[in-house]
Amino acid sequence: MEEDPNMTPSIIFIFGCLLCHTATSSDPPNIILIFADDLGFGDLGCYGHPTSHTPYLDKMAARGLRFTDFYTTGPVCSPSRAGLLTGRFQSRSGVYPGVFYPSSVGGLPLNEVTIAEILQSRGYVTAMAGKWHLGLGRNGTFLPTRQGFQNYLGVPFSHDQGPCQNLTCFPPKTLCYGTCDLGEALLPVFINEQILQQPVNFPGLVSLYREFSKAFIHKAVKEKKPFFLYYAPHHTHYPQFASAEYAGYSQRGKFGDALMEVDGTVGELVKSVWDMGIQNDTLIIFTSDNGPETMRMERGGSSGLLKCGKSTTYEGGLREPAIMYWEGKIKPGVTSELASTLDILPTIASLAGAPLPNVTLDGYDLSRFLFNGEKSPRNTFYYYPSSIDPNRGIYALRMGKYKAHFYTEGAFHSETTPDPACHATALLTEHDPPLLFDLDTDPAENYNLLTPVIPEELKPIVNEILKERDRFLKCMTYGKSEINKGTDPSLRPCCNPECTPKPSCCHC
Ligand code: MG
Repeated sequence: MEEDPNMTPSIIFIFGCLLCHTATSSDPPNIILIFADDLGFGDLGCYGHPTSHTPYLDKMAARGLRFTDFYTTGPVCSPSRAGLLTGRFQSRSGVYPGVFYPSSVGGLPLNEVTIAEILQSRGYVTAMAGKWHLGLGRNGTFLPTRQGFQNYLGVPFSHDQGPCQNLTCFPPKTLCYGTCDLGEALLPVFINEQILQQPVNFPGLVSLYREFSKAFIHKAVKEKKPFFLYYAPHHTHYPQFASAEYAGYSQRGKFGDALMEVDGTVGELVKSVWDMGIQNDTLIIFTSDNGPETMRMERGGSSGLLKCGKSTTYEGGLREPAIMYWEGKIKPGVTSELASTLDILPTIASLAGAPLPNVTLDGYDLSRFLFNGEKSPRNTFYYYPSSIDPNRGIYALRMGKYKAHFYTEGAFHSETTPDPACHATALLTEHDPPLLFDLDTDPAENYNLLTPVIPEELKPIVNEILKERDRFLKCMTYGKSEINKGTDPSLRPCCNPECTPKPSCCHC
């Protein structure tokens, strides 16, 4: 693969001279939002992984702002996607407990206001490529096209929700990686609300997304319209796949191949932005939906030094790699200021000059932090488990550098690591007083500060955290669970609706 010549150190220097720390441009910027899947805090080269090959993301990090303390709202796929697109905890939208299935009756409620809807109302053209996982519903009721995306190309749920071991063997031959969890539906690729391909040809999937995304960017620029592209790769979720261009090339094996393919796509999108001359008008954000699924062992990703992974409320479940890059606007560097996917909607709305939706938001506008060098407005973060129970509420709360756990629970997604606290056998445990960790000195959550007794000097912070927990939970209004609406087999997508037997006859 050739490296992008625009991303060399000499260019960093040249454009470094032109850095402007205030976002004063009256034109609303283009937005490219990339949301990887099950990619952990320790998986990228620029986050310290020794054998991941992620040159394009590393360069984006070098030229942009890399976050060390950035949180997603849920430790599994659907809730974290709801949090990102609405700027609200998934508890409000009802995207809990767990995740949606191809036959799920519910979805992200249509009255939720998404980033795409906000930007569309400001004259943006909008598109999404990749994994939606916020519902499908009867007649596509919950597809991205119903939530502000004018264009959609993708598999609308997780790619392990079909019998995908049969789907990775199309030419060019790519080895099958293990088995999958469910055989609900042969995986479809949707173009808007129609099935374009079923079953998915995995080795060709990412190039479809890449070409769709590049064509969308080119058209928007040609038509002089600001654009919003939301790209949600299936990588690096299990089972990993990769095109012939990447399969077998990573030192890190199958997971590394999938990661290289995401990285290469990011490189191509950044190159498109430079080629079109819109690098000073385009904010690019990269992060991931939840921590690594360590039960997949060497194919499950890494949370680095953080504790546990997917489906837990330890740091490995929700703290994610995050990079924000805007040439000439965001000063390159590394920040340990707190931020969250929740903050992306208010920040983008502010950049686009769009009014905020008339709902309770959980995010902050990060503009003054990103462009004016001020501190992040976020000082707290609230950790919901994958299966929210309104009677329990949050499992943990971070205030500044301190994190208190009120409940801990292991998860099968976080099996196989040496730490038994991560495993499904670590049952739900209430902690009163809470466990307290100093995440600045102990990001791995090894040393509970409140044992054997609460030290005098920590009593004020414990009290403050408990008060904040009460305040937060008093203000929380839980939406009715969309996932508990259940499933209906007739909702499984099939390109040949009258055929039998399903799902194997759904070939187009
Ligand atoms: Mg995920």
